[in-house]
Amino acid sequence: MAASASFAGSAVAAFKSTGISDKSGHGRVSLFLKNASSVQLQRGFNYSHCRSKMSFASSGVKAQVATIEQASVDATPKVEAPVVIVTGASRGIGKAVALALGKAGCKVLVNYARSSKEAEEVCKEIESVGGEALTFGGDVSKEADVASMIKTAVDAWGTVDVLVNNAGITRDGLLMRMKTSQWQEVIDLNLTGVFLCTQAAAKIMMKKKKGRIINIASVVGLVGNVGQANYSAAKAGVIGFTKTVAKEYSSRNINVNAIAPGFIASDMTAKLGEDIEKKILETIPLGRYGKPEEVAGLVEFLALNPAAAYMTGQVLTIDGGMVM
Ligand code: NAP
Repeated sequence: MAASASFAGSAVAAFKSTGISDKSGHGRVSLFLKNASSVQLQRGFNYSHCRSKMSFASSGVKAQVATIEQASVDATPKVEAPVVIVTGASRGIGKAVALALGKAGCKVLVNYARSSKEAEEVCKEIESVGGEALTFGGDVSKEADVASMIKTAVDAWGTVDVLVNNAGITRDGLLMRMKTSQWQEVIDLNLTGVFLCTQAAAKIMMKKKKGRIINIASVVGLVGNVGQANYSAAKAGVIGFTKTVAKEYSSRNINVNAIAPGFIASDMTAKLGEDIEKKILETIPLGRYGKPEEVAGLVEFLALNPAAAYMTGQVLTIDGGMVM
């Protein structure tokens, strides 16, 4: 609480970062700031704040994972905005999730790997509705980047309430032709990245005995898909991981669930091509791709809705009826 209060009062609006990545994948930081004293800068990472300050109490939005304080003067309950980390939030589903949670009154860390400009835009859009957000450029398949990302959120806002493990890639190919590097890249980000982020965020959540973790898996992790041995193995792994972590952390009041989207319109599906798209659409009872905003709605429910407090270890499909 104290951290978020002092953060709101700092000159965070003066921050800007270049978003240029070096060969190691770490971002270079170039900052133009008037007063950075209350904010710690992460050397080697892109790190940028959008303008802050939002009165969550006056927004009219109820965030159920937030703690409730009693205001000393007028006894009006003041709800502290939940702090959310969304990995891979510069584009697609992650972007829609960051916007939905930002608009719902959360403080959002917008993680990205390369798309710094897009991440800044997400940040600005949250800010334009009175929300608070910051961008963080880093590779969530790397332990050091993950540690720095969590530290960035904690330094800025004092805690982590919600983690959305969304960052993911595809490197498709039939098994007989799949290179080890293709396999490893997908496993490193889509599965190991989820492990690293969850472990780091859960350390913070454990202390306050509160938290929600939402892992973006895929229906492919449930039923498999030709050409995606690496991706389906990683996503099936995420589903098993979700159930185990849900059991391990239930006594700490940390809910862990997975969402398994079918085909959602994004850069990931745009590269499939018209012929494959036509074939895919024939397998979807609702006859269309899903929208990132539809997945975001489900994430918002799991992250903030009081009903979701009694849900853990679940896998929710959102796929137009593909898998039933
Ligand atoms: P997308 O449009 O390709 O966006 C991927 C996001 O992940 C981008 O923000 C990207 O950042 C980020 N990213 C990539 N590598 C990263 C890394 N090493 N560290 C941190 N961030 C990284 O993907 P999407 O379609 O929205 O998919 C989002 C998630 O949903 C993925 O886990 C995917 O597997 C899952 N999913 C998607 C579909 C679908 O049909 N689209 C279906 C089922 C499941 P940059 O912009 O900086 O590269």
